[in-house]
Amino acid sequence: MQDLHLWFEQALLPEGWRDSVRLSVRGGGLASIESGVDPQPGDERHGVALPGLPNVHSHAFQRGMAGLAERKGPARDSFWTWREVMYRFLDRIGPEEVEAIAALAFAEMLESGFTRVGEFHYLHHAPGGGAYDNPAELAERIAAAAGATGIGLTLLPVFYAHGGFGGAPPTLGQARFLSRTPDAYARLHAATVQAISGLDDAVLGVAPHSLRAVTPEELAVVLPLAGNGPLHIHAAEQVKEVEDCLAWCGARPVEWLLDHARLSERWSVIHATHLTPDETKRLARSGAVVGLCPLTEANLGDGIFPAAEYRQAGGRFAVGSDSNILIDAARELELLEYAQRLTHRGRNLLVDAEDASTGRSLFDQALSGGSQSLGVESGLAVGASADIVSLDVDHPSLVERKHDALIDGWIFAAQRAAIDCVWRRGTTVVNGGRHRDAEAIRARYRATMRAVLA
Ligand SMILES: [Zn+2]
Repeated sequence: MQDLHLWFEQALLPEGWRDSVRLSVRGGGLASIESGVDPQPGDERHGVALPGLPNVHSHAFQRGMAGLAERKGPARDSFWTWREVMYRFLDRIGPEEVEAIAALAFAEMLESGFTRVGEFHYLHHAPGGGAYDNPAELAERIAAAAGATGIGLTLLPVFYAHGGFGGAPPTLGQARFLSRTPDAYARLHAATVQAISGLDDAVLGVAPHSLRAVTPEELAVVLPLAGNGPLHIHAAEQVKEVEDCLAWCGARPVEWLLDHARLSERWSVIHATHLTPDETKRLARSGAVVGLCPLTEANLGDGIFPAAEYRQAGGRFAVGSDSNILIDAARELELLEYAQRLTHRGRNLLVDAEDASTGRSLFDQALSGGSQSLGVESGLAVGASADIVSLDVDHPSLVERKHDALIDGWIFAAQRAAIDCVWRRGTTVVNGGRHRDAEAIRARYRATMRAVLA
């Protein structure tokens, strides 16, 4: 295959912004990077290049119920009443539906500037809980959607055995998620290796769902299945969850993980919303990434992560689109900062240095933390995957902006509308802000959802 050459007026490289940058792509990777050079005949020319962002936490199927849980119920609505709506929605979707919904979600992720997704995949069985012939049937559908859309996939098959702390029995609504034993999960994990084998650069990890769903003994057995791959777990998203954990073991969920699970660079703790100041400092020192999902956490009424304190302690974070209620990389980062502004009644709180750009600080964290979390290299460097996002310099909010001001204009003003092209492994998957197969993916999604919601 011939090399592809892309020339940008400005590009954000690991060493910082450079002007007149020429990227050469070979076999999906960046073969050379030159700056301060003129474009050559045949080069594709664009305005601004950023590395694609990782989306570290998604449940793709939930894209299909976006907006369907916004009516007041008889009791006080919360995460727990939303979860009942989610369980009912699940009754109606099988492999075809999962694939069609995931394809839409992944295409929208690419259109918003995410080039890799960490799919926290806990839907394993048929409606009612019966087994598919292939235990990784639905993982195969997720992999098919990733392959068709082009998004990079870090698949995190979920071990889910119980309905509450201390090995409480699962509820009926959880039947599709369950691996009754670590052995059953090991078989699912092995089948998942096969499910992703057709993808170029897929990464496989292990995701114990939460301390609600997994006992300490089971945790010890399933974690080694990851080899050197990433480890993800939900923790401390809800106050009730923290209270139940205290009642079970006398410790809070993140406290328990810090004391017993040897949190390290290989771990991502998803949400970690409710932390004491001591947990915040210890989690920051652990080297783990906190996977924050600001739009979903706001939609579900989870609470606000102590991001300013955590960053001051040197903590690493990344963002995820979680329930996929709305998919937009820029809006996740914007809301992360805005929640801190509303909490602390100040501005520019998640910024790394005096006089630095808030957008750039948020972007750098989400890129490096996200890459660590999903088990890949980060940034536009020689040898890395050619996962590139270009911004539309004609967008009104980007006029006359340069370097970091472009990122501020994108995150705080233009958002998804500023995305022009996206390349994954050097292939154009988004052009003019639209996925290359947007029409077919949306048509299939509409037909699927008409049948599901009828
Ligand atoms: Zn989640």
